[in-house]
Amino acid sequence: MKIIVSGGAGFIGSHLVDELISKGMDVHILDNLVTGQIEYVNPQAHMYVVDICSEEARKIIMEVRPDAVFHLAAQADVGKSVQYPKHDADINIIGTINILEACHKAKVKKFIFASTSAVYGNLNKEILSEDEVTIPASYYGLSKLTAESYIRLFYELYRQPYTILRYANVYGPRQKPKGEGGVVSVFFDRIKNGGNINVHGDGKQTRDFIYVKDIISANLAALTYGSQETIQISTSQKTSINEILSFITDIHGIKVVRDFSAPREGDIKHSCLCNKKAQHHLKWKPIYSIEDGLKETYAFHIASESNTNKEKIYNKSIIRNRVDN
Ligand code: NAD
Repeated sequence: MKIIVSGGAGFIGSHLVDELISKGMDVHILDNLVTGQIEYVNPQAHMYVVDICSEEARKIIMEVRPDAVFHLAAQADVGKSVQYPKHDADINIIGTINILEACHKAKVKKFIFASTSAVYGNLNKEILSEDEVTIPASYYGLSKLTAESYIRLFYELYRQPYTILRYANVYGPRQKPKGEGGVVSVFFDRIKNGGNINVHGDGKQTRDFIYVKDIISANLAALTYGSQETIQISTSQKTSINEILSFITDIHGIKVVRDFSAPREGDIKHSCLCNKKAQHHLKWKPIYSIEDGLKETYAFHIASESNTNKEKIYNKSIIRNRVDN
């Protein structure tokens, strides 16, 4: 099976590429490396350093003619979206339309989209289902929601098959220490550097933390199931920031010092997504407990620390920076 993964050099995309290749698939990556890292790109993948908004990206899709496209490339930083709404819309809306048009022309059999719980905004409900009202509180949530609408209309007008996956808060190896989604990685980074951990608010706020390998298995399930559906990929479990820190303390074996600061403006108290639809439509459920996911993530951070000063070996020949003529 021939697959294109946009954003295949990023945190989630690089894990997806590894899994697809381990299953014997022919994988092509579209990524401009703005946040992605070349050292995480599987050397067996065909790598194209290209912007998803470009004509070149369209031409590659037309040329490769993949069976399926996983569209993960995005401006995925909520704060940046609020600062630079046009830039966010250019990538998340216009970039998605660009890829969608090419998929339609290349007769791609499945378009699988990485969406987010940010489409709901600050509903402050105990647990959300896919039928909930969507009132994004950031341009990131709005641009992802708009992209979702384009994907549905591409099916209505052109019969371009799709599955939209709305991820909860993803964590795991290779995640950069930034933003709300990356809170686990921020904490491990602080521990590695021997600093105190800063907690915004009282630490009782909860999130639905899902391990990246569970996100990958859901994406694979979407190759077969969930056509024309919008599905939440989550654990349906609430974990507070204080609980995360207790788990981390246990794994680390040394007490972690917490500093509490004022809650961030606009921060939501609780966010949890119901995964019943995913279980039913994708025949999928998460298998990682938060403890197991955190242990694997900790092992990655410790290993990467010991590798920090070692030479990184990249196979630059895997980059085919294609210029079409
Ligand atoms: P990431 O920043 O690690 O990955 C995004 C990838 O897209 C990077 O490799 C980046 O270089 C690439 N990219 C960005 N703009 C591009 C462009 N214009 N052209 C080509 N490539 C471009 O982020 P991630 O956490 O791996 O997120 C992957 C997807 O999952 C995103 O669509 C994000 O919105 C979604 N998502 C992530 C989370 C989370 O908790 N991490 C939660 C919900 C949804």
